[in-house]
Amino acid sequence: MTTYKAPLRDMRFILDEVFEVAKLWAELPALTEAVDADTAAAILEEAGKVTAGTIAPLNRSGDEEGCQWNNGMVTTPAGFPEAYRTYAEGGWVGISGDPAYGGLGMPKVVSAQIDEMVNSANLSFALYPMLTAGACLSINTHATEELKRLYLPKMYAGDWSGSMCLTEPHAGTDLGLIRTKAEPQADGSYRITGTKISITGGEHDLTENIIHLVLGRLPDAPAGPKGISLFLVPKVMVNPDGTLGKRNSLSCGSIEHKMGIKASATCVMNFDGATGYIIDTPNNGLAAMFTMMNYERLAVGIQGLSCGERSYQSAVKYARERIQSRAPSGPQATDKAADPIIVHPDVRRMLLTMKAVNEGGRAFSTYVAMQLDIAKFSDDPVARRCAEERVALLTPVAKAFLTDLGLETTVHGQQIFGGHGFVREWGQEQLIRDVRITQIYEGANGIQALDLMGRKIVGNSGVLYKHFSDEIKAFANDASAELAEFVKPLQAAIANLDDLTALVLDRARTDPNEIGAASVEYLHTFGYTAYAYMWALMVRAALDRKNEDDFYASKLATARFYFARLLPRIYSLTASVRAGSKSLFLLAETQF
Ligand SMILES: Cc1cc2nc3c(=O)[nH]c(=O)nc-3n(C[C@H](O)[C@H](O)[C@H](O)COP(=O)(O)OP(=O)(O)OC[C@H]3O[C@@H](n4cnc5c(N)ncnc54)[C@H](O)[C@@H]3O)c2cc1C
Repeated sequence: MTTYKAPLRDMRFILDEVFEVAKLWAELPALTEAVDADTAAAILEEAGKVTAGTIAPLNRSGDEEGCQWNNGMVTTPAGFPEAYRTYAEGGWVGISGDPAYGGLGMPKVVSAQIDEMVNSANLSFALYPMLTAGACLSINTHATEELKRLYLPKMYAGDWSGSMCLTEPHAGTDLGLIRTKAEPQADGSYRITGTKISITGGEHDLTENIIHLVLGRLPDAPAGPKGISLFLVPKVMVNPDGTLGKRNSLSCGSIEHKMGIKASATCVMNFDGATGYIIDTPNNGLAAMFTMMNYERLAVGIQGLSCGERSYQSAVKYARERIQSRAPSGPQATDKAADPIIVHPDVRRMLLTMKAVNEGGRAFSTYVAMQLDIAKFSDDPVARRCAEERVALLTPVAKAFLTDLGLETTVHGQQIFGGHGFVREWGQEQLIRDVRITQIYEGANGIQALDLMGRKIVGNSGVLYKHFSDEIKAFANDASAELAEFVKPLQAAIANLDDLTALVLDRARTDPNEIGAASVEYLHTFGYTAYAYMWALMVRAALDRKNEDDFYASKLATARFYFARLLPRIYSLTASVRAGSKSLFLLAETQF
């Protein structure tokens, strides 16, 4: 059985010393009252306790037991309902919800750390409150005042949960194909009819009501993505006074049997003329759903980091205890029959890769969260627009890069355990099975790469990219001479990405396959370059204090590893992008 300890020290370092978020909060009126550095620290400490003490212990048993479906009802594993109640009563579901409706109004930079903790503790468990928080965000941004008053307080309190119903059997990536019907009724509501598949938390026994956000089509809607509307469809009808009424006409037909996240109910949902209420205007459903998806995509990216962090914690402990062979430089533990495997260069390579990727990912996801906060809370329209640009550009990177690297790091964590890593009781193989879905759902990673390259870069003629690149260059130009060791390779990396971006923009004008051919390797080149920026920011914060304590010295050593061993990956990725689309189409379809 593995244990989990929230990495509070690193989280505090990133918030307080790297990004100095308290200064930002002092400039954003909605946050000035709500939070300061001490409050944030106390919240994170509490979150560390509840995730490690209450939720993490259910991770393995939840995986073994899974969810059960019986005649439309879904039972979560033993301990889940009680743990969920504890979590909800602690106010964690509505932690960043709107205070006007009972939320706690915390900034995303704080809730992003909580997301990391709860997902490290138990990815399956984390999905229930995560979907609820996302649904609340969409309702709060796009629904009528009446719907907000009726639904948000109960959802923030965790009494009711949320789900996101997009996918249909024939429509996953291409949501323009969805067929679910929404027929207007005389009282202003809609009759929703259709089948949705793979719906996380579509049915379960954790809450008395489930609020589904469902994409559907009005009878006169245009074909494709421009004809989709969003509806709020409760499992149990809600009376005008907020009490629960009769069951709505919807049911869970079955649950999926999956590779991982076995304690998260993945449901087939049948809507049989269910009553729903429109959110936002007709045919604007995808835009309304995207409000939720930007947040969810960052949260899914964080899931990749969470699994990597949990795997790392176990792997370090194991590498210190497991003795095999002697160090190449001569015996280290002379009182033992062999040295602990942490002395071996290859084991150190794997541990350092995990550590550098996790800490870089934590800084990057916090940076994106900070942009979400500025976009939401700033009074300054220029600052808001600039932050919105960053969110648009970086969300697909956060989603895909953190989760792709989450798979790499959890595989390293398993490898460090040798044969034991393959055996269930050590917990490492579950993390690989769990993290794998994060590369697929919430838009497969290949689609994230297309979004980055196609919509966010080529679609904007490189303008959003240029603004981010300029920010990195300005940082590098202003950096002190002491940082030169890190700033020089960062400058080379951003110059490389500038050239690559210009090349793809140019080729995309004439080659229709260029974007798709370049996108995944381009996203990874972008990701490693962005992490180099994060590592340089972390070094700047740690450098002056390197003699104060081990934490700062280890930051610098890890940064050196990142720049020496991981950043150079961009040059091989760049060569792949430069090779263009031609070799992808040399084979006829029949030759596969
Ligand atoms: C455990 C689990 C939980 C889920 N939870 C939810 C949920 O809560 N709500 C919900 O609505 N859905 C949910 N999903 C569905 C999930 O979001 C979809 O599976 C995902 O978006 C991919 O869609 P698809 O499975 O139809 O694959 P497809 O769209 O059929 O794609 C198959 C492959 O083709 C690639 N591809 C498709 N189009 C292109 C293109 N234009 N260019 C390049 N490559 C392309 C994709 O990247 C992918 O690799 C869940 C799925 C799972 C497995």
